[in-house]
Amino acid sequence: MGVYSPENFRVLCIEDEPDILRDLADELADHGFRVDQACSAEAALGKISASMPDLVICDMQMPGMNGLQLLENLRAHKDARALVPFVFLTAFSDRETVINGRKAGADDYLVKPVDYDLLIATVESHLSNAAQRAAAAKQSAVANGTVSQRDVLVERLTTLSADAALAVVKADSHTEVARRFSGNIDAVVARLSRAAGVEAFRLNAHGWAVLGLDSALLARTIEPLVQLRLRDTSRKGSARATLSGVIAPVGKNTPEDEANSLLDRLMESARLLQREGGGQLLEFDGPEMSDVRLASSIRAELITALRQGQLHVCFQPKVSAGSGAPLSAEVLVRWQSPMLGHLSPATFIPVVERAGLLSHLTDWVLRQAAVAQLQLVRNGLPPRLAVNIGGSEFTADLPDRIAAIFAELGAREDLLEVEVTETSMMADPGQAEGIVNALHQRGIGVALDDFGTGYSSLSHLQACPVDTIKIDRSFVQGVGESGPDQKIVLGIIGLARSLGVETVAEGVELESQRRWLAAHECDTLQGYVISRPLRFEDYCALLRAWPKAA
Ligand code: C2E
Ligand code: MG
Ligand code: MG
Repeated sequence: MGVYSPENFRVLCIEDEPDILRDLADELADHGFRVDQACSAEAALGKISASMPDLVICDMQMPGMNGLQLLENLRAHKDARALVPFVFLTAFSDRETVINGRKAGADDYLVKPVDYDLLIATVESHLSNAAQRAAAAKQSAVANGTVSQRDVLVERLTTLSADAALAVVKADSHTEVARRFSGNIDAVVARLSRAAGVEAFRLNAHGWAVLGLDSALLARTIEPLVQLRLRDTSRKGSARATLSGVIAPVGKNTPEDEANSLLDRLMESARLLQREGGGQLLEFDGPEMSDVRLASSIRAELITALRQGQLHVCFQPKVSAGSGAPLSAEVLVRWQSPMLGHLSPATFIPVVERAGLLSHLTDWVLRQAAVAQLQLVRNGLPPRLAVNIGGSEFTADLPDRIAAIFAELGAREDLLEVEVTETSMMADPGQAEGIVNALHQRGIGVALDDFGTGYSSLSHLQACPVDTIKIDRSFVQGVGESGPDQKIVLGIIGLARSLGVETVAEGVELESQRRWLAAHECDTLQGYVISRPLRFEDYCALLRAWPKAA
């Protein structure tokens, strides 16, 4: 039941005279009330059990069960029926009925023929009293802990008189976190809401809602809260907690079911955000929140995707800059998800990596590479392939993992190259050197991917004996015309030569870029001007067609 407003209330009219019943119902409906009708006390009982009205108007004299008996019946129950406001209609100056009705627990009476102004005034006064009583009861129920603050918030949302903003803030759901930190967070929420003049509500052990009329102000209020890093190192061991927040606009007088659904969706979004590491406040409808939702779906879908064959690999040729001869191909993963559509590896690999699932994917790609290599060898085509290895996979056990997969399938590891981004490789240059050496012992080549975008220092490059440097597309783009990119790429080629390292230019899209790179002694080219990444059959066809295609 909302705050007093006629459309929030349902009035049941009970009257055996059809004309009077219709007039009563029309009059009430004209004043905005929702109206139900019954032509007998028996019919009314059924309607009341099915759905509780907010007020009953009942004729006293009816065939069968009369109004007084109906009232006694209702008041004998131990539920809401005993309390429903009951107004009876009686004949003029029937004093005895009035007294009996009052004794039986009627709230008011009206004399027939009905004065409709008096009828409406009576109904309004009883309903607004009931609404006030309900609000007061709810407040004391919250104070006693019998009604949730969530109910109070939903009630607030249904009666907001202006547009506002609502934020949900969430901590981790572990009981340990709730036990150790929810008191602290409660205190911070209370302090923030006092300071900024916004209202805070506790939703559950690890969730809070904050309502404010000005969304920018609300965001500024919440921001310090979600940036809290809680740490507790008591004798029971250490625990940490982060918080996440999601904020959405909320209109005035939001219907109750919409308010509930908005709250549920905000809580779900905050949960997803929290799983991504927390520490942020995002807009519910913003692009960053969409990314978080996508990340969460990706995580959920990946294992199924691997099992159901939604992933496939493509092969992008690398050719000699001088002769144009195909030398090898980079194996690039593709995901066509029935749920999420086509996903770019740049989107899903980081999510898969954060979810700790990249090893599944890497093993799967390595298998695809091994199988493809066997077919290339069988068909007398250039069999060298390169596989991308994510930063978290570039660990000391990588050489053995590759060896195990290639041995199982009977493929040759010495025809494989791994591409590792400069950033991953240089995260721990000392360890990287050991891994590169171990890969070399097995004959596996190592390429430094996206070179120029990371932070390798020349001394690291010297210590880490990679075979190839892949010059990042961002530099290659500019080499067709004179400018700083030409100087940078010339510098990289010169540096690589002096270290005895091969160069591959990535993302070569234009003839002018191809010509310049060939003229300046870049060894190998890869990019759309040569070929887009291809399905395996198409890659084989391209290899067979060379040198005719060159
Ligand atoms: P990358 O290793 O630098 O791969 C090159 C990316 O550049 C590929 O994007 C490729 O399709 C794209 N590309 C190639 N030539 C051109 C060109 O001429 N113009 C433009 N605009 N783009 C070109 P893709 O396939 O979307 O892959 C993106 C990144 O995702 C890759 O960058 C790599 O870091 C990662 N990735 C792809 N497959 C795998 C995989 O199996 N495992 C791991 N760990 N990462 C992968
Ligand atoms: Mg690569
Ligand atoms: Mg690259």
